[in-house]
Amino acid sequence: MTLDRRHKTRELWLETLAAHRQNVDAPASEDFWSPSLDTASRDELIGIQNTKLAVLTPFLYENSEFYRRRFERLGMMPDDIQTIDDLSKWPVIDKAEMMEDAIQYPPYGTYTAMSEELWRERGWMQFSSSGSTGVPRIFRYSHIDRGYWEWANARALYSMGIRQGDTVFPMGGFGPHVWQWGVIYALAGMGVAVIPGGGMDARARATVIDRFKPSVIACTPSYALYLGQVMKDMGSDPNKSSVQTLFTAGEPALAIEKTRERLEDLWGCSLVEFYGCTEVSPHCGGYTCPASTQQDRPVSMHLMEDIQIWELVDDKQYQAVPAGVSGLTVCTSLNSESSPQLRFLVGDYTQFDQSVCNCGRTHVRAIGGCTGRADDIINIRGIKLLPSHIEQAVRSVPGIGDEFDILLRTKPDGLDVMVIRVEHPQQDRIEHIATSVAQQIRSQCEIRVDVEVLTPGTLLKTEFKAKRVRDERNK
Ligand SMILES: [Zn+2]
Repeated sequence: MTLDRRHKTRELWLETLAAHRQNVDAPASEDFWSPSLDTASRDELIGIQNTKLAVLTPFLYENSEFYRRRFERLGMMPDDIQTIDDLSKWPVIDKAEMMEDAIQYPPYGTYTAMSEELWRERGWMQFSSSGSTGVPRIFRYSHIDRGYWEWANARALYSMGIRQGDTVFPMGGFGPHVWQWGVIYALAGMGVAVIPGGGMDARARATVIDRFKPSVIACTPSYALYLGQVMKDMGSDPNKSSVQTLFTAGEPALAIEKTRERLEDLWGCSLVEFYGCTEVSPHCGGYTCPASTQQDRPVSMHLMEDIQIWELVDDKQYQAVPAGVSGLTVCTSLNSESSPQLRFLVGDYTQFDQSVCNCGRTHVRAIGGCTGRADDIINIRGIKLLPSHIEQAVRSVPGIGDEFDILLRTKPDGLDVMVIRVEHPQQDRIEHIATSVAQQIRSQCEIRVDVEVLTPGTLLKTEFKAKRVRDERNK
């Protein structure tokens, strides 16, 4: 890698990024933060993607050791990937490949396009993936990147209806998870009031809602259910609180109808959602819009296409699926200096629709939202399903508590079984309730399960992300 080529490709990449960032400080219209981008025609979006790709591949080749090695291993040169039509030549990168890189070149791996000298010059922040399985992975993003992610998040938050005059109460901790940081930076840039809500218990948060009257609360859906219950126990009604918008992230909610209904009933407000993956970018990938939950259409969320390229692949060979067919999400991120990515397997199951949305945005929509990642698939007796499928079925039974869990066990005779544990106040009707839950799961998920009905308050309360699945099977 000659120094000259490194510098030149970096300069060009930074210029290209800057040239496509519009409306940095303020929205340009009432409905869209960046109308020229948010409502760009499909040809214009493809044009932007192609322009960025043609600059990105030489930049990665010259500046990232991980990408340079991968190009060489595949016998490819940056010129081979100039447009979105060339992308399929580049096999998708999955978490395992990134993990191997991090293990071989600790502690960060070599995938970023930054030298240590440049990291020091730029300044950076470090985050980690929430890592439901295995060791959490570490990510650094420079302060130049921060400007880009603030902007991307502002566009998404604007689409979700958040405006100056709102007071947002985000309840994530200030740990190394990027979501809360990204939201707060974006809100500050938008001139929106923020009450940081990390480091408090649910009673303290309930008191903040009562006293300071935020219009938006932001947390995981399972935490929103828990917090609403705590408010009720304290004698106040979340339905009559100041909260007009419930902003969820970290777990699917939009896509699970019964969970969404439960949240909207509890809080008496509409639900908006962020969807993202730290591995591929520090900002949101998917976000809801005013048309996301229109009654006559399936729920949907947009993916931002001028700064990312989204594809769907099958779950076996990772080959692109035809239009209209569901598959796993793959993202090429075009909005970062330190860590752009080429075809990273995010791995959420969904289906795409490129038609113009009723809200006026042209960016592709994930129809049905995102219901869970391939990593979270439960495989029992050859049947594969996502925890969100069980959630939908469990919450179809009236009166079931908010907490539930899924135990996978091996019986003495060697048969693997799934046990669903739920809570219900009517302990004299346990058998009937257990049968109802089992029937719902059988008809919606096509699997037989055992159900245990417990007294309310037995299961562990969710404090951030719910841990629903426990696998105790004999290996
Ligand atoms: Zn829309």
